[in-house]
Amino acid sequence: MSIQVVVGANWGDEGKGRMVDYLAQNADYVVRFQGGNNAGHTVVNEFGLFKLHLLPSGIFNPKVTNILGPGMVIDLQGLVEELDGLKEQGISPDIRVSDRATICFPFHRLEDTWEEERLGAGAYGSTRRGIAPAYGDRTIKKAIQVGELLHESYLKERIRNLVDWKNIKASGIYGKEKPFTFEAVWEWISEYGAKVRPLITDTASLLEEGAREGKNILFEAQLGTLRDLNYGIYPFTTSSCTLASYAPIGGGLFGHHPDQVIAVVKAFSTCVGEGPFVTRMQDNEADQLRETAQEYGAATGRPRTIGHFDALATRYGCWAQGATEVALTKLDSLSGLKTLKIATDYEFEGKKVGRFPLNAVLEQAVPVYEEMPGWDEDITGVRDFEALPNTAQTYVLEIERLIDCRIRYVSVGPEREALIDRGPQFEADLSAPD
Ligand code: GDP
Ligand code: MG
Repeated sequence: MSIQVVVGANWGDEGKGRMVDYLAQNADYVVRFQGGNNAGHTVVNEFGLFKLHLLPSGIFNPKVTNILGPGMVIDLQGLVEELDGLKEQGISPDIRVSDRATICFPFHRLEDTWEEERLGAGAYGSTRRGIAPAYGDRTIKKAIQVGELLHESYLKERIRNLVDWKNIKASGIYGKEKPFTFEAVWEWISEYGAKVRPLITDTASLLEEGAREGKNILFEAQLGTLRDLNYGIYPFTTSSCTLASYAPIGGGLFGHHPDQVIAVVKAFSTCVGEGPFVTRMQDNEADQLRETAQEYGAATGRPRTIGHFDALATRYGCWAQGATEVALTKLDSLSGLKTLKIATDYEFEGKKVGRFPLNAVLEQAVPVYEEMPGWDEDITGVRDFEALPNTAQTYVLEIERLIDCRIRYVSVGPEREALIDRGPQFEADLSAPD
């Protein structure tokens, strides 16, 4: 039996979906434990190229049971459409949806949009999929759980009360007069709920049973440490906990500890959405790398902001994840760059910061860079670490030392097999050079 958690150590889009698809070859269960369909996890394998939003990236192994865990917010329409799309591509995975997960409604999408519009220039950069309002409702105890779809008269009553309250809010905050009706909400939930009902499961019991039978369980996070609600660049974060410590709660597995926490880290920095981003590259350099690396959001198509590798942020990112090992992705995208920069620290008011700080400091912080030579070779075919150009090896080893975590995997392409595995045994040298 093994329990693994795949998380992001940066701002998201590190390549978690790609790593989960790889690791799911040995999994029995793959479990999403937070977030909703604001995620975009890209997977490239023998079946083609896929962008997954709600579904776990274990769906390509037919032996895997894929769980949408209790910590998720689930847009039923999004789920049905995603499943229908996959079916057309010949993929019909085994999916179970937690009875305790939160339903994300169309009114949540509208509330999300109205709030971003109200904020104007100060907007959070939300994907407008309703995630913050849905989690907000969960926290203030107004939400509807997926399992309530199985109890029609109970559900009707709950929705009636919810719609009344939503209308009061819409009018008071946004000046919208009764935009929501019970009938419209009921029609939506009847249509999509009917298709989700057969998937509803007490997933915590299912996982408990799996753990007792010694099965391999893999948890998959959405976004990364720096978008975590508590430890990220608040308020430019998501509305849930993206950390590995949350996987047992949001995924529903108690009394078992993860054997491995694999933090996925990108070989340079990117972020989509708003918030401070200290190592932002100059425009011409960024534009070039964005094109080579195809850095556009998988959920929204928005161009990602590009930066130099931020070792201070990533060290913090791996630490907060309790990472036991790192998967470094997109090293191939750096081929051809003459010089690579790594931010080893920030300066604020003339002093070194030393540790990833709060936004008030981040917004003024100036990166301290070290520079390293790049390489020209195409490395997409490399499968042994020692076969990488020397400068590429040095870059990876320097990152390993600065982030204080062993880099087990180095990804050199989006395809499942484009991966260097340095193996479970090697000891990383994390000491400072003499
Ligand atoms: P996630 O949200 O963490 O799952 O990451 P995304 O899928 O949103 O973004 C990562 C992007 O990088 C996707 O387009 C992947 O196909 C791609 N990708 C992942 N690993 C590599 C790699 O090693 N090399 C290249 N060139 N692309 C990669
Ligand atoms: Mg993504």
